Amino acid sequence: KNLVVAIDGPAGAGKSTVAQLAAKKLGYTYIDTGAMYRAVAWKTLQQQKEVTDELILEVVKDIDVNLQYKDGKTTVTVDGTDVTGEIRTPEVSAIVSQVAALGPVREKMVDLQRKMGERGSVLMDGRDIATNVLPNADVKIFLTASIEERARRRHKELTEKGYTIDMEQMKADIAARDKADSEREISPLVQAEDATLLDTTGLSIDEVVERILSMCK
Ligand code: C5P
Repeated sequence: KNLVVAIDGPAGAGKSTVAQLAAKKLGYTYIDTGAMYRAVAWKTLQQQKEVTDELILEVVKDIDVNLQYKDGKTTVTVDGTDVTGEIRTPEVSAIVSQVAALGPVREKMVDLQRKMGERGSVLMDGRDIATNVLPNADVKIFLTASIEERARRRHKELTEKGYTIDMEQMKADIAARDKADSEREISPLVQAEDATLLDTTGLSIDEVVERILSMCK
């Protein structure tokens, strides 16, 4: 049906997991906008300098961020280098909200996102997709879950990657990122008026995917 589907929500709500699976079932392209802000954050850390707004703005000036979605998998490159694995570290997560709060960063990324959304048959996830990037999306979903559940999911993900992180710390990190994302001036994280709220607390991945698919019928 060539739909444009927007999925927004806070950190750890499971957006990328379920959006990826739903996109596969629909035969749509999946676009992970968080990965683009993470890519800018990654390159900023590569500079080995104190992270300031000035440094971030310098980095974003001539960065080439590219998202490739193929066979159900997303590959992220920065200036031609594959950084898909490296953008998911706690170090990147710790500065990404600062990066994403800056106007010039958002302008550049939103431009790219709109171009990718133009063709339809896309499922895009992020924080401001329904409110700002694709306000005319056919389906708008606001995905959330309790802070405990979101922290548990992220903790599991990072533990599997070999990180040792305290659960209380995890909760605090996620809460801090949600606060920064919700309180920033430009395109803050907020449920769009015309979005459907989907609370995934206690739901399995399959159950959430099913609900998304039924909204796309
Ligand atoms: O979704 P993910 O956790 O990978 O997003 C990382 C960060 O990127 C978010 O915490 C937020 O600061 C920023 N972001 C954003 N707008 C989007 C997607 C992500 O500001 N559309």
